[in-house]
Amino acid sequence: MSTFTTTALILRHADDREHDKFIVALSPGRGKLHLRAKGTKKSVSKLSGSLEPVTHVTLTIAKGRRSDLITGSIIEHRLSGLRQDPFTFVAAQWFLELVDRVTKAEQDESRVFAYVTDSLRSMEAEDILTLGQRWLRLCRRAWQLLDLQGFAPSLQVCAHCHQPLGTEPIAYHSHQGLVHAREAGIEAFGLDTPTMVYLVDGVSPPDERTVFRQLHQLVERLIHQTLDQPLRSEPVLRSMMRFGNRIERQKYDTLSKT
Ligand SMILES: [Zn+2]
Repeated sequence: MSTFTTTALILRHADDREHDKFIVALSPGRGKLHLRAKGTKKSVSKLSGSLEPVTHVTLTIAKGRRSDLITGSIIEHRLSGLRQDPFTFVAAQWFLELVDRVTKAEQDESRVFAYVTDSLRSMEAEDILTLGQRWLRLCRRAWQLLDLQGFAPSLQVCAHCHQPLGTEPIAYHSHQGLVHAREAGIEAFGLDTPTMVYLVDGVSPPDERTVFRQLHQLVERLIHQTLDQPLRSEPVLRSMMRFGNRIERQKYDTLSKT
């Protein structure tokens, strides 16, 4: 049986037969991998702990006739910072589900792999930010991921007249893409300059709420356009963020009363 070794990010797992696990991982050079790990449900299994989703590992894989088998796994980075905060962890899982949906098997995904591992490492240190700020960053990361995979419209050129978007008012339409607002169809919505600036260079805007509202709507529509099925973790992310926002507001109210 031939084997190979690759660095990989565990995207998700599921139970497969009585004791086995079915693992989906992303390798930079080999793209999305569908793998099986034998006996990982037994408490004695050495593999199990290193095959949790949102873990950066080095895998040894044996090529099988029907499915490839994980024979060894070493943790490169546990990304434990993401697990210390429930909101960050849900956000990371949502992001990895999107990665899972926009990547392919047997394809060089090294740019996506580098972008995603960098993003996860940055997210580990974001628990000092408000939830709103974290969600805003997550939206931009989703946009950039879709952009890397060729699903995002150009931020420079109008999809209607092919002239530079420039400083004119801009709108997004699900079928047209990003266009000059004066050329946009009826279901388009406007994107203010700070939203465009944030998308392009990532500099935090003074009015984060407005930018978030526009960017969230933009990313939501783009994801809807790109995927045939909605993300399963979307409702979890939304309710988690709403719940967290309520807690943050209560904390703020308590602080301002004292
Ligand atoms: Zn135009």
